[in-house]
Amino acid sequence: MITLKSPREIELMRRSGKITSSVLTALIKAVRPGMTTSELDRMAEEGIRQAGGVPTFKGYNGFPGSICASVNDEVVHGIPGTRILREGDLLSIDIGTTLDGYVSDSAVTVPVGTISAQARQLLDVTQECLTIGVAQMQAGKRVGDIGAAVQAHAERHGYGVVRELVGHGVGRSMHEEPQVPNYGEPGTGMELRPGLVLAVEPMITQGGPRIRILGDGWTVVTADGKLAAHFEHTIAVTESGPKILTLRDYAERPEIERYRPAREAIA
Ligand code: MG
Ligand code: MG
Repeated sequence: MITLKSPREIELMRRSGKITSSVLTALIKAVRPGMTTSELDRMAEEGIRQAGGVPTFKGYNGFPGSICASVNDEVVHGIPGTRILREGDLLSIDIGTTLDGYVSDSAVTVPVGTISAQARQLLDVTQECLTIGVAQMQAGKRVGDIGAAVQAHAERHGYGVVRELVGHGVGRSMHEEPQVPNYGEPGTGMELRPGLVLAVEPMITQGGPRIRILGDGWTVVTADGKLAAHFEHTIAVTESGPKILTLRDYAERPEIERYRPAREAIA
Protein backbone atom coordinates (compact mmCIF):
# COMPACT_ATOMS: atom_id res chain seq x y z
CA MET A 1 0.00 0.00 0.00
CA ILE A 2 1.30 3.45 -0.96
CA THR A 3 0.61 6.28 1.50
CA LEU A 4 0.75 9.84 0.20
CA LYS A 5 1.67 12.42 2.82
CA SER A 6 -0.20 15.66 3.42
CA PRO A 7 1.73 18.96 3.49
CA ARG A 8 1.45 18.82 7.29
CA GLU A 9 2.98 15.34 7.38
CA ILE A 10 5.76 16.43 5.03
CA GLU A 11 6.51 19.29 7.40
CA LEU A 12 6.73 16.80 10.29
CA MET A 13 9.04 14.64 8.22
CA ARG A 14 11.17 17.70 7.44
CA ARG A 15 11.58 18.26 11.19
CA SER A 16 12.66 14.67 11.60
CA GLY A 17 14.97 15.11 8.62
CA LYS A 18 16.51 18.20 10.17
CA ILE A 19 17.67 16.13 13.15
CA THR A 20 19.00 13.41 10.87
CA SER A 21 20.90 15.90 8.72
CA SER A 22 22.36 17.91 11.57
CA VAL A 23 23.52 14.82 13.48
CA LEU A 24 24.95 13.35 10.28
CA THR A 25 26.81 16.60 9.63
CA ALA A 26 28.34 16.36 13.12
CA LEU A 27 29.38 12.76 12.48
CA ILE A 28 30.96 13.68 9.13
CA LYS A 29 33.00 16.35 10.86
CA ALA A 30 34.07 13.94 13.62
CA VAL A 31 35.37 11.14 11.37
CA ARG A 32 39.13 10.72 11.68
CA PRO A 33 41.71 7.96 11.61
CA GLY A 34 42.11 6.19 14.97
CA MET A 35 38.52 6.39 16.13
CA THR A 36 36.11 3.48 16.36
CA THR A 37 32.75 3.24 14.68
CA SER A 38 31.11 2.75 18.08
CA GLU A 39 32.29 6.26 19.07
CA LEU A 40 30.34 7.62 16.11
CA ASP A 41 27.37 5.50 17.08
CA ARG A 42 27.34 6.96 20.60
CA MET A 43 27.54 10.49 19.19
CA ALA A 44 24.64 9.74 16.88
CA GLU A 45 22.38 8.35 19.60
CA GLU A 46 23.16 11.26 21.94
CA GLY A 47 22.61 13.82 19.21
CA ILE A 48 19.31 12.37 18.09
CA ARG A 49 17.96 11.99 21.63
CA GLN A 50 19.11 15.47 22.69
CA ALA A 51 17.13 16.87 19.75
CA GLY A 52 14.02 15.02 20.96
CA GLY A 53 14.12 12.20 18.45
CA VAL A 54 14.55 8.45 18.65
CA PRO A 55 17.24 6.58 16.68
CA THR A 56 15.13 4.62 14.21
CA PHE A 57 17.70 1.91 13.57
CA LYS A 58 18.26 0.95 17.20
CA GLY A 59 16.38 -2.28 17.77
CA TYR A 60 15.04 -2.39 14.20
CA ASN A 61 14.82 -6.14 13.57
CA GLY A 62 17.26 -6.38 16.46
CA PHE A 63 19.92 -4.07 14.96
CA PRO A 64 22.15 -2.96 17.86
CA GLY A 65 23.30 0.47 16.62
CA SER A 66 21.87 3.93 16.01
CA ILE A 67 23.87 4.12 12.79
CA CYS A 68 25.08 1.63 10.25
CA ALA A 69 28.85 2.03 9.82
CA SER A 70 30.16 0.25 6.72
CA VAL A 71 33.86 0.38 5.86
CA ASN A 72 35.50 -0.10 2.42
CA ASP A 73 34.03 -3.25 0.83
CA GLU A 74 31.09 -3.13 3.25
CA VAL A 75 28.15 -1.75 1.28
CA VAL A 76 25.54 -1.17 3.99
CA HIS A 77 24.29 -2.42 7.39
CA GLY A 78 27.70 -2.59 9.08
CA ILE A 79 27.34 -2.87 12.86
CA PRO A 80 29.19 -0.13 14.79
CA GLY A 81 31.86 -1.59 17.03
CA THR A 82 35.50 -1.65 18.00
CA ARG A 83 36.85 -1.46 14.45
CA ILE A 84 39.38 1.36 14.27
CA LEU A 85 39.13 3.61 11.24
CA ARG A 86 42.38 3.94 9.31
CA GLU A 87 43.76 6.59 7.01
CA GLY A 88 42.48 5.90 3.51
CA ASP A 89 39.33 4.01 4.55
CA LEU A 90 35.92 4.78 3.14
CA LEU A 91 33.20 4.98 5.77
CA SER A 92 29.52 4.83 4.92
CA ILE A 93 27.29 6.22 7.66
CA ASP A 94 23.55 5.51 7.47
CA ILE A 95 21.28 7.13 10.05
CA GLY A 96 17.58 7.40 10.77
CA THR A 97 15.51 9.49 13.16
CA THR A 98 11.95 9.06 14.32
CA LEU A 99 10.29 12.28 15.51
CA ASP A 100 6.60 12.56 16.37
CA GLY A 101 6.05 9.24 14.64
CA TYR A 102 7.77 10.15 11.36
CA VAL A 103 11.00 8.65 10.07
CA SER A 104 13.80 10.25 8.06
CA ASP A 105 16.63 8.22 6.56
CA SER A 106 19.92 9.45 5.13
CA ALA A 107 23.41 8.19 4.37
CA VAL A 108 26.79 9.40 3.15
CA THR A 109 30.13 7.83 2.38
CA VAL A 110 33.07 9.87 3.63
CA PRO A 111 36.84 9.59 3.35
CA VAL A 112 38.83 8.76 6.48
CA GLY A 113 41.82 11.06 6.14
CA THR A 114 43.30 11.03 2.66
CA ILE A 115 41.92 8.52 0.17
CA SER A 116 43.06 7.34 -3.23
CA ALA A 117 41.96 9.11 -6.40
CA GLN A 118 40.04 5.98 -7.37
CA ALA A 119 38.15 5.95 -4.08
CA ARG A 120 37.45 9.66 -4.45
CA GLN A 121 35.96 9.10 -7.86
CA LEU A 122 33.68 6.36 -6.51
CA LEU A 123 32.39 8.76 -3.83
CA ASP A 124 31.87 11.56 -6.32
CA VAL A 125 30.05 9.41 -8.85
CA THR A 126 27.82 7.81 -6.18
CA GLN A 127 26.88 11.21 -4.84
CA GLU A 128 26.16 12.34 -8.39
CA CYS A 129 23.95 9.25 -8.81
CA LEU A 130 21.85 10.41 -5.86
CA THR A 131 21.62 13.93 -7.26
CA ILE A 132 20.62 12.64 -10.66
CA GLY A 133 18.07 10.23 -9.18
CA VAL A 134 16.50 12.95 -7.04
CA ALA A 135 16.22 15.21 -10.08
CA GLN A 136 13.88 12.61 -11.61
CA MET A 137 11.40 12.98 -8.75
CA GLN A 138 8.94 15.16 -10.60
CA ALA A 139 5.20 14.52 -10.46
CA GLY A 140 4.21 12.50 -13.52
CA LYS A 141 7.55 10.71 -13.81
CA ARG A 142 7.82 7.09 -12.69
CA VAL A 143 9.85 5.10 -10.18
CA GLY A 144 11.72 3.48 -13.07
CA ASP A 145 12.96 6.90 -14.19
CA ILE A 146 14.87 7.24 -10.90
CA GLY A 147 16.58 3.88 -11.18
CA ALA A 148 17.33 4.25 -14.87
CA ALA A 149 19.05 7.58 -14.27
CA VAL A 150 21.11 6.21 -11.36
CA GLN A 151 22.09 3.08 -13.26
CA ALA A 152 23.09 4.95 -16.42
CA HIS A 153 25.37 7.31 -14.51
CA ALA A 154 27.05 4.55 -12.49
CA GLU A 155 27.56 2.23 -15.43
CA ARG A 156 28.89 5.05 -17.60
CA HIS A 157 31.81 5.09 -15.14
CA GLY A 158 32.21 1.33 -15.18
CA TYR A 159 30.75 0.85 -11.71
CA GLY A 160 28.38 -1.83 -10.43
CA VAL A 161 24.83 -1.17 -9.23
CA VAL A 162 23.69 -3.36 -6.33
CA ARG A 163 20.42 -5.06 -7.23
CA GLU A 164 19.40 -6.88 -4.05
CA LEU A 165 19.03 -3.74 -1.94
CA VAL A 166 16.82 -0.84 -2.96
CA GLY A 167 15.42 2.49 -1.84
CA HIS A 168 11.94 2.68 -0.41
CA GLY A 169 8.96 4.71 0.60
CA VAL A 170 9.31 6.27 4.04
CA GLY A 171 6.87 7.81 6.51
CA ARG A 172 5.50 6.40 9.72
CA SER A 173 7.62 3.33 8.99
CA MET A 174 11.19 3.32 7.75
CA HIS A 175 10.36 0.92 4.95
CA GLU A 176 7.13 1.54 3.09
CA GLU A 177 6.01 0.81 -0.43
CA PRO A 178 7.12 1.34 -3.13
CA GLN A 179 10.56 -0.18 -3.58
CA VAL A 180 12.92 2.17 -5.41
CA PRO A 181 15.57 0.18 -7.29
CA ASN A 182 18.79 1.84 -8.41
CA TYR A 183 18.32 0.33 -11.86
CA GLY A 184 15.42 0.09 -14.28
CA GLU A 185 13.75 1.26 -17.42
CA PRO A 186 12.58 4.83 -17.99
CA GLY A 187 8.83 5.30 -18.04
CA THR A 188 8.10 2.14 -16.04
CA GLY A 189 6.84 1.55 -12.52
CA MET A 190 4.60 3.55 -10.27
CA GLU A 191 3.79 7.11 -11.21
CA LEU A 192 5.27 9.73 -8.88
CA ARG A 193 2.60 11.93 -7.28
CA PRO A 194 2.78 14.89 -4.92
CA GLY A 195 2.88 13.58 -1.35
CA LEU A 196 4.97 10.54 -2.17
CA VAL A 197 8.04 10.44 0.09
CA LEU A 198 10.93 8.21 -0.93
CA ALA A 199 14.35 7.30 0.40
CA VAL A 200 16.57 7.18 -2.68
CA GLU A 201 19.84 5.41 -1.93
CA PRO A 202 22.27 4.40 -4.65
CA MET A 203 24.66 1.62 -3.57
CA ILE A 204 27.48 1.65 -6.10
CA THR A 205 30.52 -0.61 -6.33
CA GLN A 206 33.96 -0.24 -7.82
CA GLY A 207 33.80 -3.76 -9.22
CA GLY A 208 30.90 -6.10 -9.87
CA PRO A 209 27.40 -5.58 -8.44
CA ARG A 210 27.24 -8.85 -6.51
CA ILE A 211 27.02 -8.81 -2.72
CA ARG A 212 27.04 -11.23 0.16
CA ILE A 213 26.11 -11.02 3.84
CA LEU A 214 28.67 -11.67 6.56
CA GLY A 215 28.20 -14.15 9.39
CA ASP A 216 26.91 -11.42 11.73
CA GLY A 217 23.69 -11.57 9.70
CA TRP A 218 23.81 -7.85 8.90
CA THR A 219 26.92 -6.59 7.16
CA VAL A 220 26.54 -6.52 3.38
CA VAL A 221 29.86 -6.67 1.52
CA THR A 222 30.83 -6.71 -2.14
CA ALA A 223 31.34 -10.29 -3.33
CA ASP A 224 34.61 -9.32 -5.05
CA GLY A 225 35.99 -7.35 -2.09
CA LYS A 226 36.10 -4.06 -4.01
CA LEU A 227 35.02 -0.72 -2.55
CA ALA A 228 31.42 0.40 -2.27
CA ALA A 229 29.73 3.74 -1.64
CA HIS A 230 26.24 4.70 -0.49
CA PHE A 231 24.44 8.03 -0.44
CA GLU A 232 20.83 8.52 0.63
CA HIS A 233 18.28 11.24 1.16
CA THR A 234 14.62 11.29 2.17
CA ILE A 235 12.77 13.27 -0.50
CA ALA A 236 9.16 14.37 -0.96
CA VAL A 237 7.58 14.73 -4.39
CA THR A 238 5.77 18.08 -4.39
CA GLU A 239 3.89 20.16 -6.96
CA SER A 240 7.01 22.28 -7.30
CA GLY A 241 9.48 19.40 -7.61
CA PRO A 242 11.49 17.24 -5.25
CA LYS A 243 11.99 18.53 -1.72
CA ILE A 244 14.92 16.96 0.12
CA LEU A 245 13.90 16.54 3.75
CA THR A 246 17.38 15.51 4.95
CA LEU A 247 19.38 18.24 3.21
CA ARG A 248 22.57 19.18 5.05
CA ASP A 249 24.25 22.55 5.22
CA TYR A 250 26.44 22.24 2.16
CA ALA A 251 28.75 25.03 3.21
CA GLU A 252 30.00 22.85 6.05
CA ARG A 253 31.88 20.31 4.00
CA PRO A 254 32.24 21.51 0.42
CA GLU A 255 34.95 19.03 -0.51
CA ILE A 256 32.56 16.10 -0.09
CA GLU A 257 29.38 17.96 -0.95
CA ARG A 258 30.30 19.06 -4.44
CA TYR A 259 26.94 18.14 -5.82
CA ARG A 260 24.22 20.15 -4.23
CA PRO A 261 21.17 18.01 -5.00
CA ALA A 262 18.64 20.80 -4.60
CA ARG A 263 17.51 23.19 -7.31
CA GLU A 264 20.66 23.25 -9.40
CA ALA A 265 20.26 19.61 -10.26
CA ILE A 266 16.67 20.07 -11.27
CA ALA A 267 16.94 23.25 -13.35
MG1 MG B 1 19.32 4.57 5.32
MG1 MG C 1 16.91 3.66 3.46
